Amino acid sequence: MAILSDNEDIGIDNKESLHKKNPIIKPENIEYDKTFENSIRPKDFDSYIGQSALKETLKITLQAARLREKPLDHMLFYGPPGLGKTTIAGVIASQMGVEILITSAPALERPRDIIGILMSLKGGEILFIDEIHRLNKVAEEILYPAMEDFTLDMTTGKSQTAKTLRIPLPKFTLIGATTKAGELSSPLRDRFGMIHRLEFYTIDELAQVVKRTAKILEIDVTEEGAKAIAKRSRGTPRIANRLIKRVSDFAIVKYDGKIDEVVANESLDILKIDEFGLDNTDRALLNLIIEKYDGGPVGVETIAAALSEDVRTIEDVCEPYLLQAGLLQRTPRGRKVSPEGYRHLGRKMPSEQTRLF
Ligand code: ADP
Repeated sequence: MAILSDNEDIGIDNKESLHKKNPIIKPENIEYDKTFENSIRPKDFDSYIGQSALKETLKITLQAARLREKPLDHMLFYGPPGLGKTTIAGVIASQMGVEILITSAPALERPRDIIGILMSLKGGEILFIDEIHRLNKVAEEILYPAMEDFTLDMTTGKSQTAKTLRIPLPKFTLIGATTKAGELSSPLRDRFGMIHRLEFYTIDELAQVVKRTAKILEIDVTEEGAKAIAKRSRGTPRIANRLIKRVSDFAIVKYDGKIDEVVANESLDILKIDEFGLDNTDRALLNLIIEKYDGGPVGVETIAAALSEDVRTIEDVCEPYLLQAGLLQRTPRGRKVSPEGYRHLGRKMPSEQTRLF
C-alpha cells in the first residue's frame, strides 16, 4: 500500500497534470533511438531473429489472450544488455495492437512517479519497466496490488485524518526487463505469469541481424562479410548493429563501400575488436587479473576500481560474455581467468611457466 505525504496527495482529478509529469519515454521519443536504433528495431515476430523458443511460446500466449479477450499475463524478460528485451516487448505490443509505455526503474524514484504512470494507463496497454531489479521498496509495494488486482491502494493524510483509497485501474500488462533476475524480490518475481531468459545469439543468427540492418541502411555486405562481423559481436544483436555501422564507415572511406570478409576483418582489427569480439576493456580486465592477481580469484569491486570502471558496467556489460565464452570464471572468492582466457591472450598459466626451483 502506498503511503503518500500531504503534499504528494493525488486525487483522480490530478490525473491529467500527473500524466504530463510522467517519466514515461515513448519509443519514438528516446533521443538516441530516433534515427539509427528506431529504424532498425524489429517490429514483428518475423523480423525478430532467433530466440525461437521464446517466440513460439509468445505466439501461443498472444493467441490465447486474444481468444479469451483478456490482457496478457505480466512477463519478465532477463538476460545481458542488448539481447532484445525491449525489442520483444515492442513486438508484443504491436502484435496485440496496443500501446506500450516505456520507463525504467531508476526513473521511478518517488511514489508519485509510479502512481502517475499507473493512473495514466488505458485498458490493455503494456507498461514496460527496464532494470526492474532497481525498483525501490515503496514502488514495488504500489505495484503488487496493481499487478494482482488492478487496483491502487493508497493512504492519504496523516494519523487520525488518514484515509484509505482503493482506486481501480484498467487491466494492463506489465513487462519487466532485467539483467539481474536474482536481485528481484521474490514477491515481485512471483507476480509475473511468464519469466523468460533471453539467450546469446548464434553466429548464423547474428549474421542475419547484420544483413537485415545492412539492408535497411542500404549497405552492401556479402554473406562472408556478415559472418565475419557476427563472429565478433559477442552473441549480442546490439553489438552486431554497432559493428556493421562502424565497419560501413571504413568501407566507404577506405574501400569501395562494399563489405566483404577482408574489409570486415581489417576494419574490426583497426577498431581493436579481436576475433572473440573482445575490446580493450575486456582485455584490460583479463590482463589485470593475470598480472596483478596471479589470475585470481579477485573481487569485482577491486577489478572495477583498478580499471576505473563502474561495478555495474563490469558486471552487466563485460562479464556475462566473458563468462559465457569461458574466458572468465566466477568463484565464491571472486573472478578467475580460465585456462581458455590465458590461451586467448597468448599467455601461459602460472602452472605452465618454467619454475627454476
Ligand atoms: P535490451 O532491451 O535487451 O537491452 P534491445 O531490445 O534494446 O536490448 O535491443 C538492442 C538492439 O538490438 C535493438 O536496436 C534491436 O534493433 C536489436 N535487436 C535485439 N534483438 C533483436 C532480434 N532478435 N533481431 C534483430 N534485432 C534485434
